[in-house]
Amino acid sequence: MTPQPARTLLCPGCGREVERFYNHNLCEECFLKSFALFACPPVIKILVCPVCGSYFTSGKWIESLDPKEAFFSEISRSIQVHPDASSVKLDFSEEEIDQARYLAHISVSAVVSGVTVSATADTEIRIKKETCDVCSRIAGGYYAGILQLRADRRRISEREVEECMQLADRVLNTFAAKGDRFAFVSKITELKEGVDLYVGSINACKHACSLIIREFGGTSVVSSSLVGKKDGVDLYRITCAARLPEFVRGDVVSVRGRVIEVAHQDRQIHGIDLADGSKVSFDSKTPVVKLGTRDDAVAVVLVAIEDDTVQVLDPETYRTVLLKKPNFISAEAGSDVCVIKTSMGLFLLPAGDG
Ligand SMILES: [Zn+2]
Ligand SMILES: [Zn+2]
Repeated sequence: MTPQPARTLLCPGCGREVERFYNHNLCEECFLKSFALFACPPVIKILVCPVCGSYFTSGKWIESLDPKEAFFSEISRSIQVHPDASSVKLDFSEEEIDQARYLAHISVSAVVSGVTVSATADTEIRIKKETCDVCSRIAGGYYAGILQLRADRRRISEREVEECMQLADRVLNTFAAKGDRFAFVSKITELKEGVDLYVGSINACKHACSLIIREFGGTSVVSSSLVGKKDGVDLYRITCAARLPEFVRGDVVSVRGRVIEVAHQDRQIHGIDLADGSKVSFDSKTPVVKLGTRDDAVAVVLVAIEDDTVQVLDPETYRTVLLKKPNFISAEAGSDVCVIKTSMGLFLLPAGDG
């Protein structure tokens, strides 16, 4: 508002002579007296989810929001400040009436026609419990992706399932921390061939699947299917099948006539040739036969050790067996060593890594 030219004016409110009018026709005092800086509804309702504690504000549910922030957000959305006001500052303090009601003392200050104006008002804040979008979807078994935990040509072990779930959990938590409210698992089903996790977020589902494959090796296949339309946008669901490798650390296998303890399988199987201790890798497509696992190994007495041979007691026949000395054996005669009896003979195993 531009100041009036410097001439004497008569205020219609108080009859005083003044040099300038505010808000067209009043002296500063009368203007401040009559000016309504803001209007506020007598009651402001705030929704809170009884399950996760999210507040509904600015048209969406927000997790782990401080109640005071939620109140501030809803008060500033509910009050109407005079359109001529600029540099508006809002402040409030709240008093608890009971569990569901608060009394909010609101104060607003602003600049109008070059004058700083302030006003206060009280309003009631009512807390209403309502299950949020996410909690109601979790309760309804909603999902956008299925993460299938499987193993190649064998049943996935319970320990593997547990470790996969921990990895998935880590991914979901990261997504949730970044604001993906659909980073949840709404259902877990156990099947003969493995476990299915029903995930709310497509992205989180995909990331969990890739992390599992990165950690365990193996392969994954992602497929998607159209399930409908929402607001003209195609809705998809995905299935991420994580297939853990057939062979795992500690498996003893035979491949091309050699006996190997498996260390890791990705596109190749990596391990140690138990006959001589050399490190070997071969393509996963090579025919492999599983002979046993490190769990089948037993401790036997090392009878004698020479430059390239060792003698151990056969755990079943107690007869002395002569073996080529693999490079991982450095124990002294009389001490215990680990051996595994397989259909391809008796083999020494490197000292376990726990
Ligand atoms: Zn006046
Ligand atoms: Zn909730």
